[in-house]
Amino acid sequence: MAEFPKTAECIVIGGGIIGASIAYELTKVNFGKVVILEKNTVSSGSTGRCGGGIRAQWSTPENVRLAMESVKRFRELEGELGTDTEYEEGGYLILAHSDEELSQFRKNVEMQKKHGLQVELLSPEEAKKVVPLLNTEKITGATWCSTDGSINPFLINFAYMKKALEQGASLYERTEVLSIDKEGSKITGVVTPKGVISCPVIVNAAGGYAGTVASKARIELPLVPHRHEILATEQINRFFKNMIMSFEHNIYFRQVKDGGIVGGQTNPGEPPGTSVVSGISFIKEMSVKLGHFIPALGDVKILRQWAGLYCMSPDAQPILGRVEGTQGYFHACGFSGHGLMLAPRVSVLMAKAISDTSFHDPDLDRLGLDRFEKGIASFEKSVV
Ligand SMILES: Cc1cc2nc3c(=O)[nH]c(=O)nc-3n(C[C@H](O)[C@H](O)[C@H](O)COP(=O)(O)OP(=O)(O)OC[C@H]3O[C@@H](n4cnc5c(N)ncnc54)[C@H](O)[C@@H]3O)c2cc1C
Repeated sequence: MAEFPKTAECIVIGGGIIGASIAYELTKVNFGKVVILEKNTVSSGSTGRCGGGIRAQWSTPENVRLAMESVKRFRELEGELGTDTEYEEGGYLILAHSDEELSQFRKNVEMQKKHGLQVELLSPEEAKKVVPLLNTEKITGATWCSTDGSINPFLINFAYMKKALEQGASLYERTEVLSIDKEGSKITGVVTPKGVISCPVIVNAAGGYAGTVASKARIELPLVPHRHEILATEQINRFFKNMIMSFEHNIYFRQVKDGGIVGGQTNPGEPPGTSVVSGISFIKEMSVKLGHFIPALGDVKILRQWAGLYCMSPDAQPILGRVEGTQGYFHACGFSGHGLMLAPRVSVLMAKAISDTSFHDPDLDRLGLDRFEKGIASFEKSVV
């Protein structure tokens, strides 16, 4: 076992998809000695608990652009990382349940098309052609984007991490960052139970704990962790490849490659907190919803259920980049339920910002922490 490092050029806090992808992109540009510190194990946080969905159908231009660029990267990544990640462009069908919702969808589609996304507004009959077993009785329409899709979150998280390590990064699991050292406004290192590492640059990629980690550098982030539950059923013959989503019913589900249905919902009354227990009421509600949307799923058996954290920001968009007044501190957090799908683009932008202090990008700049002070935050509406 290598000796615990005393110095590094950059410490990445968190071994989920965000930390692993940023570490990979930093080693790709030969940033120097990159050390990843993970308090549990790789992919044990939200990433290994997520639904694996990838979509560019968002209501804010920033999310559309980040997701579209991420899709381009997802297409390259299997080859680049040398691992099968089960990446598949099966599409997303997003259901509208009222005329009001349909009119919001129409606006979303117009804006998304301006960015070059191939997305369509469908009638209930057209939606049924995409998923013939779908109950379309109570829907007023849907949107459809065939380049949306899915990936296995563990495979992509581990693939990024493996390649980052091959390119020279080091990973220390079961190593919690207990405190962050500063001299004046400059980051100087971190303290862990295994020792102190001196380092001029840290990246907060701590997922649901990003607010706690930031507070160790005396930075206040407006983030709130929320528990989200999800389940997987037994395997059945595969009859649809796309994600089905309804904001009105707070639900998303897809049929993964092995035939199981994986899906979850938001509990609107969920209090903030870091609990990841999962209960019986979730299964009851999900069973009713799945049976409603696809009656043929009525007899399918649920195999397992679990929960993870969404790290919610005030406008349901990520908080990225540097922080004015704290030299050497960077963060990529507050993904509000869509961090897996944005990771490929966000990690490229973050690596550029970390390695070149003069780097600017319109999306990175707009999604900085200061947007809340400046009053330029725009709320992302398309969240389950
Ligand atoms: C049920 C559910 C379904 C979801 N579905 C989707 C989806 O379909 N598509 C999508 O894009 N997103 C989805 N998400 C959101 C997605 O999982 C997250 O946005 C994404 O995984 C965030 O990645 P991360 O690396 O920031 O966080 P994490 O994966 O949580 O990684 C952060 C890591 O930091 C570590 N850490 C925390 N504090 C410290 C510390 N002090 N020291 C060292 N390490 C620390 C944690 O142990 C953790 O491993 C879903 C989330 C949930 C819960």
